Amino acid sequence: MTDHKKLFIPGPTEVLPDVLAEMSRPMIGHRFSECSALISEIIPMVQEMLYTKNMIFLSTSSGTGLMEAAVRNCVRESCVSFVNGAFSKRFYEIALANGKKAVPFEIPSGRGFNADLVDAGLKGQKVDAITIVHNETATAAMSDIYGIAEMMKAKYPETSLLVDMVSSMGGVKLEIDKMGIDVALASGQKALALPPGIAVAAISPRALEKARTVPNRGYYFDFIAVEKNLAKNQTHITPTISHFYAMRKQMKRIIAEGLENRWQRHLKMAERVRSWAETHFRIFTEQGYRSNTLTCIENTRNISISDLNKKLAEYHMVISNGYGDLKDKTFRIAHMGELTMTDINELIAVIDGILGL
Ligand SMILES: *Cc1c(COP(=O)(O)O)cnc(C)c1O
Repeated sequence: MTDHKKLFIPGPTEVLPDVLAEMSRPMIGHRFSECSALISEIIPMVQEMLYTKNMIFLSTSSGTGLMEAAVRNCVRESCVSFVNGAFSKRFYEIALANGKKAVPFEIPSGRGFNADLVDAGLKGQKVDAITIVHNETATAAMSDIYGIAEMMKAKYPETSLLVDMVSSMGGVKLEIDKMGIDVALASGQKALALPPGIAVAAISPRALEKARTVPNRGYYFDFIAVEKNLAKNQTHITPTISHFYAMRKQMKRIIAEGLENRWQRHLKMAERVRSWAETHFRIFTEQGYRSNTLTCIENTRNISISDLNKKLAEYHMVISNGYGDLKDKTFRIAHMGELTMTDINELIAVIDGILGL
């Protein structure tokens, strides 16, 4: 593993060796009691991490699958999709691709959403749902989901909140029940620090009620089928059992670390990277909306990001270029999952050496 590059990219992230090792356990049947026991061990830990009693769907898919599931189950006809970057745009496109009347409400790249902006986007309309990305990984903009959720509860109580928390869940405190989020979804391979191939969603009783009234929910991601099988701690398809073992281990680690400690660790790493970025470059993301799990940095020195990564590879490290149109104009440093302040300090020292900062 000497050629392994430590991942400072926003997914996949570093998976700890003992978590990875769990994936090599011998296979069991997904209808065996051992598999139900595994599921019943994981779910309460996820609920604790998300401060929720909602149903937890452990999906054998990546996060995008659950974006599709959210729209498919909770949008009868129409939704407003809040767009501030590539992943929130994807949520909009998924709604369209599933035949929903989705209306985009776009703000410039690098900015985050707050309650006023979401209210302005809805303009008092009665839509089935809104789609929004809590932590827009393309620009490292973290929207004010607490403020948005509170406003929605007060002004649009009938509208479902479908929230992509793909790159924040497991790195940021997200109190799902307090906020009243209907579908909170994430991929395993971001701040949850699991190998890609599993995704997780917390689904509210209200979302399930809504789903029952929505036709053509599809089969694979049908929340009602999920609910029915979860009553027996089972799944309606053959799930990724190997990920379940890894996830049980990782969730135990997350709980053992202490949730508040975990949120603080992410914040401290973010502050360290931001202060370095402000000294030598400029932060791309609007102030007040800067993510705790990754930082998007304007390439004000016009360096070659690909050359930087070639040099970083000699030190067994890798960072991310900008996403899509932002390639080379920005670059991104992820500080999520199991990375520590020591890792971040090492990365910064190496970059300083390479760039002569
Ligand atoms: C990575 C990412 C996705 C896509 O997740 P997959 O697991 O690759 O399907 C969606 N939204 C956000 C915000 C992401 O960071």
